[in-house]
Amino acid sequence: MGFEKFGVVSFTSDAKVAPLVDYLEKGKVMMTKCQQCGKAFFPPKADCPRCVSSNVEWLEISSIGTLLAFTVVNYGPSGFENDTPYTLGIAEFEEGVKVLGRVSKAISPEDVKVGMRVKLAPLKLANEQIIYEMQRS
Ligand SMILES: [Zn+2]
Repeated sequence: MGFEKFGVVSFTSDAKVAPLVDYLEKGKVMMTKCQQCGKAFFPPKADCPRCVSSNVEWLEISSIGTLLAFTVVNYGPSGFENDTPYTLGIAEFEEGVKVLGRVSKAISPEDVKVGMRVKLAPLKLANEQIIYEMQRS
């Protein structure tokens, strides 16, 4: 139980999206799309914050995206201190979502450009955790 009973208009939960990890393990970066109003979300949402429907569909973000902005992180937050420097970017995809995430370390920061074409891919870390990253398309 979350905040479903709180407030004048029901709050929706951002949790209940464990399938994201299962899909990453299978090589897919997924979003959710509301079947009621059509709005797409990444990170995925179990319930639609726009119309409060729980009728959401999981869809893969498989298009080639466009990098809108990026920054190089030199001073990492707690837990990321040993990962610096790394590049964070925001890219827009044809499925209707903007994704915030890491740009692959395979692309040196000097080569990252606004407008470059990127694709999303899962990335397994040394500690068995899994994330996604943006790779050159
Ligand atoms: Zn909706």
